[in-house]
Amino acid sequence: MRYAIISDIHSNTEALNAVLDKCKEIEIDKYICLGDIVGYNAEPHKCIEMVQDLEPVAIVKGNHDEYASNSNKELEGFNPHAKQAVLWTQSRLSKDEIKWLSGLPLRQRIPGTNITAVHATLDSPESWGYIFDVHHAADNFSYQFTQICFCGHSHVPTAFCKKPITSRTELPIEEVPDWAFKNGENIIPENPTVADDLEVHLQSGFKYLFNVGSIGQPRNRDPRASFAVYDTTEKTVTRYRIPYDIESTQKKILEAGLPERLAMRLTVGS
Ligand code: ZN
Repeated sequence: MRYAIISDIHSNTEALNAVLDKCKEIEIDKYICLGDIVGYNAEPHKCIEMVQDLEPVAIVKGNHDEYASNSNKELEGFNPHAKQAVLWTQSRLSKDEIKWLSGLPLRQRIPGTNITAVHATLDSPESWGYIFDVHHAADNFSYQFTQICFCGHSHVPTAFCKKPITSRTELPIEEVPDWAFKNGENIIPENPTVADDLEVHLQSGFKYLFNVGSIGQPRNRDPRASFAVYDTTEKTVTRYRIPYDIESTQKKILEAGLPERLAMRLTVGS
């Protein structure tokens, strides 16, 4: 079985299309969506429809989905541009879309699998906290009862593993460097117009937490759309980085009257 894990699409149709083309090419069986389908970019309706058509085995709610579908909620933790995009998205969603987004769960353990899905963190998903280091990862692992957890939210791909404890001195939680960069470095990709991938082999007895990165607004200085594939037979999790038509997305953002900064950041992946 091959699962594609998609996250933080943020109303970016071009990036989602590029990712789904790749998914067809590599013959994905099932989809898992980690939320933030809407927000920031200009095509919320189209992206909701495309995600629904995939019939994912799990879809969890992101903070932008939450705030775009709940106009009574104070907009906490959003910068002015993100706030403007949330309000713009609210005004574009249909009643059915609002109902659908607001009804999504915050975390989901997928029956019959070793996978849990969450947008932010398992320990308190409704607080929308970020997992950037081993301490945050440790909090998450305390609430992770499956071998694998996939998360999104930061738009920065990171992965952590929790080893079986074999000695008192050894630290059980480590970052998985192969997930973020090739050869431990190379923050800016050599050629962002070419697709590539990074593969992690799962070891038995280990728990894993993978932040799959963002499809619609990458922030790790790599402008390519990022998503993951879990191959249950090969016991591998692979992160794909896919170039897409950024200019078309930017044009739509500007035409919609959304902040210019939201268009510009896509070029550099910031
Ligand atoms: Zn997001």
